[in-house]
Amino acid sequence: TVGQVTADMIDMLSKKSFPLCMSHLHSSMRQNHHLRHGGRQQYGLFLKGIGLSLDEAMKFWRSEFTKLIDVDKFDKQYSYNIRHNYGKEGKRADYTPYSCMKIIMSNAPGPGDSHGCPFKHTDVDLLRQKLKNMTIGDVYLDKIISEVKAGRYNVACTRYFESVHKLPLEYQAQTFSHPNQYFEESQRTLN
Ligand code: SF4
Repeated sequence: TVGQVTADMIDMLSKKSFPLCMSHLHSSMRQNHHLRHGGRQQYGLFLKGIGLSLDEAMKFWRSEFTKLIDVDKFDKQYSYNIRHNYGKEGKRADYTPYSCMKIIMSNAPGPGDSHGCPFKHTDVDLLRQKLKNMTIGDVYLDKIISEVKAGRYNVACTRYFESVHKLPLEYQAQTFSHPNQYFEESQRTLN
C-alpha cells in the first residue's frame, strides 16, 4: 500500500491505480462538485480502504462540494455520513469497502447516479467507445468486450488492469473480486 493517503494525492492515484468504477466516480465528482448517496458510499468506503483518514476524507469531500454549496450546508448535510462511515456516529460500526459482488449485484445505478460497475452497468457500445477514448488497445478491447458480453465483469476488469499497466493479456492469474484489491495490486505493480 502507499501508507498514509492524503486528499491531495487522490487525483494522481485515481489516474494510475483506481479501477474503472472508482475513477469514474472520481471524475464525476470533480466534474459535478457532487455525488449522490450511492456514489458517496461506494467511493467514500473505497477511499477509506486505501488509507484516507477521516480528517483527510472530510477535507477531500468538503473542498469539492463547497464549490457548489456553502460550508454550513455541507457540514449539516454530508459530514455526519462521512463520520458514520468511519465508525464515529450511530452504531459506531467499522464499515468496510464494498466488494465487486456487492457493487455488481445490488443497487443498480439510475439516471444521474455514478456508482456501480461500468463493466456491468454501462451500455456495451458506450463502454467500448469510452475505453477506445482511453486508448485501450484493440486486442485488449475485444477481450474486455467479449467478457462483458459473457457476463464476466470481474474478468473484463482484470483484462482492463493488464491493459492500463502494460502487462500481457492474462498476466493476472487471479481475477479481481474487490476494488481495493485492484488498487493494492496496481501499487505493487507500479512500485
Ligand atoms: Fe470496480 Fe469490481 Fe467492476 Fe472492477 S469489477 S470496475 S473493481 S466493481
